[in-house]
Amino acid sequence: MNTYRIQIEGLVQGVGFRPFIYRLAGSLKLCGTVENRNNGVFIFVNTDAKSLENLIERIKDQAPQHSRIEKISVEKIEDIRFSGFSIITSGNVSDDITSISPDIAVCADCLADMELQAHRRGYPLINCTNCGPRFSIIKGVPYDRSMTTMAGFEMCVKCSKEYKDISDRRFHAQPVACNSCGPFYTIHYNNRNDNRISHVTSIASLLITEGSVVALKGTGGYHLICDANIEKTVENLRISKAREGKPFAVMCRDIYAVDKIGFLSDEEREIITSWRRPVVLLESKGQLPLSVSNGLNTVGVALPYMPFHYLLFKELKIDTIVFTSANFSDEPVVISDDKALAEFPKLAAAVITYNREIYNRADDSVCRVIKGNEFIIRRSRGYAPSPVKLAVKTEGIFGAGAELTNCFALGKGNQVILSQHIGDLKNAETLDFYTTSFKRFSKMFRFNPEIIAKDLHPDYLSSSFAEQLATELKISIEHVQHHHAHIASCMADNRLNEKVIGVALDGVGLGTDGNIWGGEFMIADLCNFERAMHFEYVTISGGDKVSPEPWRSGISYLNKYAGDAITGMNTLKIREIGMEKISLYRNLLNKEINTCQYSGAGRLFDAVAAITGVCLYSSYQAEAPMRLESIIKQGISRSYDFEIRGNEISFEKTITDILSDLEKEKPAGEISTVFHNTVARSVVEGIKILSRMSGIRKVVLSGGTFQNKYLSEKIINELSGENYFVYFHNQVPSNDGGLALGQVAVAAARRVANY
Ligand code: ZN
Ligand code: ZN
Ligand code: FE
Repeated sequence: MNTYRIQIEGLVQGVGFRPFIYRLAGSLKLCGTVENRNNGVFIFVNTDAKSLENLIERIKDQAPQHSRIEKISVEKIEDIRFSGFSIITSGNVSDDITSISPDIAVCADCLADMELQAHRRGYPLINCTNCGPRFSIIKGVPYDRSMTTMAGFEMCVKCSKEYKDISDRRFHAQPVACNSCGPFYTIHYNNRNDNRISHVTSIASLLITEGSVVALKGTGGYHLICDANIEKTVENLRISKAREGKPFAVMCRDIYAVDKIGFLSDEEREIITSWRRPVVLLESKGQLPLSVSNGLNTVGVALPYMPFHYLLFKELKIDTIVFTSANFSDEPVVISDDKALAEFPKLAAAVITYNREIYNRADDSVCRVIKGNEFIIRRSRGYAPSPVKLAVKTEGIFGAGAELTNCFALGKGNQVILSQHIGDLKNAETLDFYTTSFKRFSKMFRFNPEIIAKDLHPDYLSSSFAEQLATELKISIEHVQHHHAHIASCMADNRLNEKVIGVALDGVGLGTDGNIWGGEFMIADLCNFERAMHFEYVTISGGDKVSPEPWRSGISYLNKYAGDAITGMNTLKIREIGMEKISLYRNLLNKEINTCQYSGAGRLFDAVAAITGVCLYSSYQAEAPMRLESIIKQGISRSYDFEIRGNEISFEKTITDILSDLEKEKPAGEISTVFHNTVARSVVEGIKILSRMSGIRKVVLSGGTFQNKYLSEKIINELSGENYFVYFHNQVPSNDGGLALGQVAVAAARRVANY
C-alpha cells in the first residue's frame, strides 16, 4: 500500500468533479482525500499500483459529462495514512485560481425531475451539479452560493438536504432551488402580471400564436421571441428593433424540427445538441420566411437550453420561434429587469422576467462547422470564461482587444482567459460593459496587470482605456499590429510557437506604414512579423462610411482598374446609386480627399458585392461579403485572372474579367463563385511563393474573412493536398473577437525573449 498524489487538470471545477471522485473512491473502497486547488483537482489516496491503474481508468471513463480532463499526473509521495475518504476544502486558494465554469444547458435528469419531483414540478429554474447557470450568476471566487446572485435565496429544508447529501446529484450544486425556495418567473402584460408558471407559459404561448412578440429573460440576457413562420410578425420585429438588418436566430423545439429547416451534418448535430448550446449556422432548407435570415442562405439555429424553453414549447403548437438578443441598435443585450420592463413593452406584448439577477452578461454564442470542425463566430454563453492554454507564461498580461466585436483577455499562469463577447465599443453602454467586465474579471481571477497589450490604432476606445490603465498603474504597453495579433491568436489557439506563414484576411486594421491593412501575408512568430506580401492597395474615400457603404469600395476598384469604362456601361448595377454621385465620388478619389490606402480583403469583397449589385449599402458588419457567399453555386471551378507582382497581389484582371462577365449577363451567383475561387487561388499561390522563399510549411489562417466557409474550405483543401500543415481557429473566433488572445500571446512571447 502506497500513497499517491493525483492531479487532474482541465475543466474540473463547478462541474461535480469532487463528488464524482468521492463516490468513485467509495465504490472502490479507497481511503484518501479530494480537493480543489488553483491548478486542478487533487486526489491523495492510499492504494497499490494495480488498483491505482483501475482508479485512473475509471476517472477517464466516467468523468462528469461537462468536465474536460486535459491532463492527469500521478506521483508516488511520502506515506500519509488516511481513514475513509473525504472531500476537503482547500486552504490554498491562491492567486492562481482558475476555471470558472461557463453556463451549462439544463440536463436530461433535471428535465425528468421537473416532472417527477414533487417540490420541483414545473420548476423553470431547476438545475444540478451537471447543469445550470454558472458564469452568468457568479460574482467572485471560490464558486460558492454566497458569491452568486443566488445568495439572497435561502434553501428550504428539502433543497438543503440534497445540497448536503454526497449521494445526491445536487450535492454542492450552488444554484440549487425549488418551487418553494427559489427564484420564480413573472409575466408582465396589459398592465397586469402573473407568476404562476403554468399561466406564464400559457399566456406567452397565446401571444406568440396570435403573432405577437414576447421579451423573455434568458441565462445571460433578454431575448425577443415570436413565431418564426409569420412573415409579417418577423418583419415588424425588424422594424421595431431599429430596422435591424442582421439575420435573426431561431430556436427549434427539438432536433427533428431543426432537420426540417436546415441541412445537418453529423458535426453540426453534435454541436447544436452539446451542453454549450450555441446558435449554429446551418445551410437553410428555405422553409422559413425570407425575413428570418433576411435573404441569406443560412439560418442560425439553437435548441432549448433553459428549463423554461422546454416548458414554453410544451404549450406552443409551432416548432420554431425567432430567438434574437434583445438589445437596442448596437448596445449590449439587456440584462436589467428594470430596463426590460421600461423599454420592451414598446415592442413586445409581454415581458417575462425571473427574480434572479444576471450578473455577467452572456449573449448566445454563434458557431458554424468549417471543414468538419467547430468554428466559433461569437464566443460567449457556454464558452466564456473557459481559458485557452499557451506554451508560454502569460501571467499579468492584459489584452485590450479590438474596437469592433471586442473581447478582452487576461493572462493567468500560462493560460489566457477571454471575456465574453463585449461588442462594438462605439457607444457609451458597450464601453461601460467593457470597463465593468474588466474590473469584474480582474477581481474574479485575482488579476494584477503587469503589461498591457493593445492594438496600434490610437483611436480605438479599447486603446484609450489601455493607455489610461497603463498610466494609472505605471506599467508598460506592448503595441501589437492588428494582423500580427490575428496570426498570433491562431498560433496560440493551436499552441504553436515558431516561425510560420501567416495569412490574415479581414476588413480593416492599422498597418505599420499608416495604411489600412487586411489582405496580409506574413512570415511571423509570436514576437514579430515581416510583411511578406499583401493585396494591392486601393484608394478609398469616406473614412467611417467605407464599411456601411460598399459602393464606395466598388467605385474605388473600378476607378483604379477600369477608369472611365464605368460611364459607358449602362447595365452596371452600381450605377443605381446615381451617376452624379459616382462622378462626385471619383473626384474625391482623384483629388485624394478624405482617402486612405486599403489592402483589406473585406474591401475587395465589398467592391465585388457592389459592382455585381448584390449589396450597395450594408446594414450590419460584413453584410456584403455574407451576401456574396450566400449566392455561391456549387460545382463551378473556373476562376478569374489575378497577378502577383513582387510582393503585391493585384486583382486588376479579376475586376476587368468581372465587368466582361457582367456584360455577358452572367448571373451574380456565378460571378460570386468564380470570384471566391479566384481569391482562394491567389491566397494559395501567395503561400506557395512564401513557402518556396522561406522553406516554411506551416500555414496559419486568421481574420474575419475566414468565417467564409466556402473560401476557407477551398483554401484548406488545396493546401492540405500539397503537404502543407494548415492551422485554423477552433477555440476562439478568427474575427476581432479572438484578437485579444493574440495580443496576450505576443506580449508573453516578447517578455520571455526579452524582446
Ligand atoms: Zn441537471
Ligand atoms: Zn427548495
Ligand atoms: Fe481584424
